Amino acid sequence: MSVSENKRRPRIATVWLAGCSGCHMSFLDLDEWLFELAKLADVVYSPVADVKEYPENVDAVLVEGAVANEDNLELIRKVRARTKAVVSFGDCAVTGNVTALRNPLGDPENVLKRAYIEEANTGGRIPSDHPLVPKLLPKVLPVHQVVKVDAFLWGCPPDAARIRAVLEKLLGVEKPAEVDAINPAAGQETAKTKDGE
Ligand code: SF4
Repeated sequence: MSVSENKRRPRIATVWLAGCSGCHMSFLDLDEWLFELAKLADVVYSPVADVKEYPENVDAVLVEGAVANEDNLELIRKVRARTKAVVSFGDCAVTGNVTALRNPLGDPENVLKRAYIEEANTGGRIPSDHPLVPKLLPKVLPVHQVVKVDAFLWGCPPDAARIRAVLEKLLGVEKPAEVDAINPAAGQETAKTKDGE
């Protein structure tokens, strides 16, 4: 899988769904190689860039985080429709990981009540009462259970060397030694185990 056959410069993106941003911190750990990346491709959307709308015609995207609320759901569907290669970026995207710890507790309202009403010192209020806060989905889902995923980059977070290997593979820079960094079978298997299905 490479997006380097395009006649134009490759257009890549990173997306932040329900995750802690640690995967993006690891992306920033690419340090000076980010300058090399800027020579190889245009970064057209990312939480570290001031772009409001996910654009059309994206060649590859790294998606951090699971799908936990209605905003995540809307964004990942848009991302899938507008992107050639979707990479599940980090364990929350690949399996649900920390984000999915609420799943065994059932209805998300129980979790919200516990955290924001029962444990509140004073004036408890569930934040989803506010119209700007997206409604939680009944269950947190790894990305591949919502849309088709083309590659899985596991790790919590994946380290910068493996992120670079995947980006180089996508951009056709070189054949990475860590081929297993983009092993769909490994990702699917992990997700299955996590969900107990
Ligand atoms: S995989 Fe780890 S570092 Fe990445 S968003 Fe999830 S908890 Fe954070």
